[in-house]
Amino acid sequence: MLTSPRTRVSPKIAIIGAGFGGLCMAIQLERAGIHSYTIFEKGSGVGGTWRDNTYPGAGCDIPSHLYSFSFERYSSWTRRYPGQPEILGYLEGCADSYGLRSKTRLNTMVTAAEFDETSGRWRVRTTAGDEMFDVVVSAMGQLNRPHLPDIPGMSSFAGAAFHSARWDHSRDLTGRRVAVIGNGSSAAQFIPKVAEVAAHLDVFQRTPNWVVPKPDAVFGARTRAALHRLPLLQRAYREWVFHYGENTLYPALAGGWSADLVRRRALEHLHAQVQDPELRARLTPGYPLGCKRVVIDSDFYPALTRPDVDVVTDPIARIVPEGVRTVAGLREADVIVYATGFRTSEFLAPVRIVGRGGRVLSEEWKDGAEAYLGIAVPRFPNLFLLYGPNTNLGHNSIVFMIECQVRYVMGCLPHLTARGPMEVRPEAMDTWRRSLERAMGRMVWQAGCASWYKNDSGRVTNNWPGTASLYRRITRTPRPRAFRFAR
Ligand code: NAP
Repeated sequence: MLTSPRTRVSPKIAIIGAGFGGLCMAIQLERAGIHSYTIFEKGSGVGGTWRDNTYPGAGCDIPSHLYSFSFERYSSWTRRYPGQPEILGYLEGCADSYGLRSKTRLNTMVTAAEFDETSGRWRVRTTAGDEMFDVVVSAMGQLNRPHLPDIPGMSSFAGAAFHSARWDHSRDLTGRRVAVIGNGSSAAQFIPKVAEVAAHLDVFQRTPNWVVPKPDAVFGARTRAALHRLPLLQRAYREWVFHYGENTLYPALAGGWSADLVRRRALEHLHAQVQDPELRARLTPGYPLGCKRVVIDSDFYPALTRPDVDVVTDPIARIVPEGVRTVAGLREADVIVYATGFRTSEFLAPVRIVGRGGRVLSEEWKDGAEAYLGIAVPRFPNLFLLYGPNTNLGHNSIVFMIECQVRYVMGCLPHLTARGPMEVRPEAMDTWRRSLERAMGRMVWQAGCASWYKNDSGRVTNNWPGTASLYRRITRTPRPRAFRFAR
């Protein structure tokens, strides 16, 4: 049985993380006149992934007019796909204009959150002390913990080594021999920049990726002025990008009409940019397009064709003091960059979340993370997740999904204020799980490839198998019947 907390007009809310999700949550609370929240941020600034990823060439491969808040449209983007500094600047601007800084505790890591059944509140433990809250909103994201591979000899390397999401800017790569391990979206963005300055670059590729062109465009002063003066034009552009994702890219992932079209587009891109048939063969994926995250980039292939860049496909045997030893021999390096992705299936780690009856979330999720609508978990009352399990997209803007989730949480607040802590019913979770499994069956992600969308046992724990529009529809209004309430 849940116990009743004392009635309060504005629940006290802990938000974990100050990236797109945490800021969106805080802004909507501010707009609703609810100021009783605190954002806990382990880093030294707001921005989340856009504060962490500062590698050369970092940017978003979703157009920023869509990859931004719908309620905070911005006409000053200097190009279709702006770089990381501009996106970070946008988020910092949002934090400033909504007055979120004074509510944000930087350099404060949440280590645990424990539900106290007597008070019906959460004890949030942080590196700065403990505090009680009515509601916990996790906005920790899926791509916040760098994954370092487990290659023998890594600690023996004599040069500098770092992960792409922790770029060491004190290391000048000019004239150095650089080894990059990994070739996903992050590597594809910085490889062209590194290749320009390095003496030699080895790209260690384990699996080739599908790559489609990135039709970037500069938005000059006149375009920006037009977008500023004509909000309808800006809105129409945003809608167009959104619906292109929904109607052309989504079907390519769901075995629909465009699968062959997008695949042919990717192959044409490869043929146009890589003339050497042997290199082309090594860069041609042997699995369906979309199974892994598609790389969207127009500079990646040209960088790989440079005479001072080698794509190394011989498996890595070990790291040695002089560089990387593959099964074919030694590749000398002064610097190793691990572009090896993130620990994506360990949602909410390393925060220890303890719910009703002493249930530990990481143990509940030992076979794979799951949450009702990606937002709520049985036996964890008043805990809400943003960008939680099965809410990542391969075809559209994650900021859109976050806004849907925040609207849902906002819709829950009056219920939990009136009726005490709310906890999703196991039956609702079962129905959700079944519908997810059915929808997952038609998606390309299960089609014989390894990817960060899945956990170790091959279950797709990260991606949402429907369109973003469908997700908006089903999260529009909370259904109280799906929840148990303390009162
Ligand atoms: P990733 O896509 O997970 O790529 C990791 C790379 O490391 C893969 O090439 C992987 O090879 C390789 N790798 C991992 N362990 C290895 C090992 N032990 N030995 C050799 N190679 C190993 O990571 P990411 O490039 O950082 O991108 C992660 C996600 O972040 C993207 O998919 C995307 O969603 C997001 N992102 C977005 C943007 C954007 O513009 N919106 C930009 C960057 C990143 P295998 O493929 O063989 O596993």
